[in-house]
Formats: sequence, structure tokens, C-alpha cells
Amino acid sequence: MISKNIEKMDVSWVRKMFEMASSIENPINLTIWKPDFDVPEQLKKEAINAILDWKNQYTPNAWILRLRKAIQTKLKNENNIKIDTDEIIVTWAVSWGLSVILTTILNKEDEVILFDPYFVWYKQLVLQNGAVPVYVNVNSDFSLDLKEFESKITTKTKAIIINTPNNPTWKVYTEWELKTLANICEKHNILIISDEIYEKFIYEKSHFSIWSIYKNTITLNWFSKAYAMTWWRIWYMCWPKNIIEQAWKVQQFNFVSAPTPFQYACIKALEFDLSDYVEKYKQKRDIIFKWLNDYYEINKSEWAFYCFVKYPYEPKKFIKKCLENKLLIVPWDIFSDKNEFFRISFANDNQTLKRAVNLLNSFV
Ligand code: PLP
Repeated sequence: MISKNIEKMDVSWVRKMFEMASSIENPINLTIWKPDFDVPEQLKKEAINAILDWKNQYTPNAWILRLRKAIQTKLKNENNIKIDTDEIIVTWAVSWGLSVILTTILNKEDEVILFDPYFVWYKQLVLQNGAVPVYVNVNSDFSLDLKEFESKITTKTKAIIINTPNNPTWKVYTEWELKTLANICEKHNILIISDEIYEKFIYEKSHFSIWSIYKNTITLNWFSKAYAMTWWRIWYMCWPKNIIEQAWKVQQFNFVSAPTPFQYACIKALEFDLSDYVEKYKQKRDIIFKWLNDYYEINKSEWAFYCFVKYPYEPKKFIKKCLENKLLIVPWDIFSDKNEFFRISFANDNQTLKRAVNLLNSFV
């Protein structure tokens, strides 16, 4: 009755925790990104004006022309990605974007490599497409273990999904790591799917787009969290020319086109300066690190919004303690086979962060 591929998938534990938060009175919810600011007023007005201006119908499957051009310019100037406008597809959300990609490229039992820990959806969407996720460990400092990566490549390896800056870890991959990875992929003719959605929120390091040195790459990027518009669901992907023709079919028959008024608003979003937001997140990162560092083993995140903290004692006991105190965190084993850490989101208001830190410190 049920598809074997779907049976292999799990439910989303991050969403479960999020839903659990709505049933607890006054919880301290550090599970997901919940910023203390909204979509900038100017961008809200753009969306409202587009609605009032009768821009409420289908757009062409890929985009509206002005948005396509604005994205093309952004990619060239900021990412050194030089592509034609017809190599970009605007779509909704990562789940749709990745579904288009994976449905276009995968056959049954193809292998897709993921670094462990991985963003949960990657695994589930690979399974949904009847393919096999293959895991590669990261090094103890969370950098990429490229020797292990090469050792896991087989004749069935079709693609690798990478994510920099990385969720769930706190890492931004270096240019050297990404160049070495690209060389290995070139040797074995592997497609890279590069999720770069957090590129705007890096602190001390800088972002490197792997497309700039390896063209057999599909780059995914978005507006969602950058502008606090997660529900507006606008994403874009740029594809190698030789496969985008096939991807059109998947986009056309599944997702049609992204919401029109929000596409218009996103043209303006690309011009919007985010430095104040980044500075505010950086202050939160520094505060959280300072407050927890005496009692916990914690790495200083290289980007917003998450940090990983080592369990001070047995994970089950610790999570139980958190729940008894209405504190919601995300256990690492949602993203991995192992369970040494828990994830907290510091995209939250300062008062909530203070309550959370006081509680956490009282547990050890
Ligand atoms: N990719 C990564 C690495 C993420 O962390 C997230 C969301 O948390 C997404 C994709 C999902 O983006 P969206 O909710 O816009 O589909």
C-alpha cells in the first residue's frame, strides 16, 4: 500500500520539538531559529504593493525577469558565479528545490554522500527518491574529512550534498577544503549540490562558493532566514546548462512557480543591507559563548544562529532535566548516528537567552 521509499523516511524531530513547544505553557524554546525581528518594513511594503498592483497570478515557471536579473548580478558580484539567467530556477523552499534536484538526477540505488552530522532533510529527501545516503564523518574539529570522503566513493556515487556555513555544526568551510573537495569530485565525475543559504551570516571568516572553481555544481540559495521571511518560501538554484533542461520538467509539473508578490519583494531584498542584523547576531553569539563557556564544552560558532554544546553528562538524563524545566533543545542524534552534543539556537530575544543560560548552568 505505502511506497517503500516513504516507509524508509523518518518524521522530523526538529518539527516535533517545535510543536511540543506550542503545547507547553511558557517554554524556553531554543530548538529553531526564532529571531526577535520581523521582515524589514520596506520589504513588507514591496509585497503589499505587488498584491495591490494585481501581481497575483502565475509567473513563468522559473521566475519573473527582473528577479532573475537581480539574482544573476548578485551571484556574479558576491559569489563569482557567472551564469546566464536561464540557468537559474526560482522555487519554493529547500524541500522543493532539493526535490527538483534529486528527482532530476537520481535513479534507484544511486548513492549520495552526506557529511555526518547533516541537515536532516538531506537524508530524508534522498530516501524519498529511492537512493542511498552514504555518510562520511567530519574531523574532530568539524572540518571535512576528505580522505574518508574519497574512500567512500563507489561507481554508484552520483552526488554529494554540502552545506557551508554548516547547519547543524558551527563551521564555515575554508577555500582550501572546498578546493580539495572539488578536485576529488572532478576526478570521479561527481555532482556537487551546494546549500549556501547562510552565507550572509558569517562572522570572522568569509564565504567561498564552490561553483566558482567547479562547474558541475548546483548552488542553492534563498531569502528566507536572511530577511526573516521563512514563510515567503522563495529560493533559487543555479544549474549546469546540460541538466537544467530536464529539471524544468520537474519544476513545471510539480511546483509551477513561486508566489508572485513575494518574488517582486525579493528583488528589493537583494539590495537590502543586512550588516545591522549580522552584528546583532554576533553579539548574541558572544554572549552565549561567554555565559556557557565556564560550565560547558562549547565551540565559538563561526556564523549565526546555532551552537553545539557537549552534554555534561548522560544525554537521556540531561534531556529529561531540560524538559522538566520546559527548556527545549535539539539532540545531536537527529543529525547523526552519534549523540555527544545538543544544539541550541541563539536567534532568540535576549531575555529568553538569559533565562535559558541560567537554567543550563544550574544543571551542572
Ligand atoms: N538548508 C539548511 C542547511 C537549513 O538549515 C534549512 C532550515 O533550517 C533549510 C535548508 C530549509 O529552508 P526552508 O525552510 O526555507 O525550506
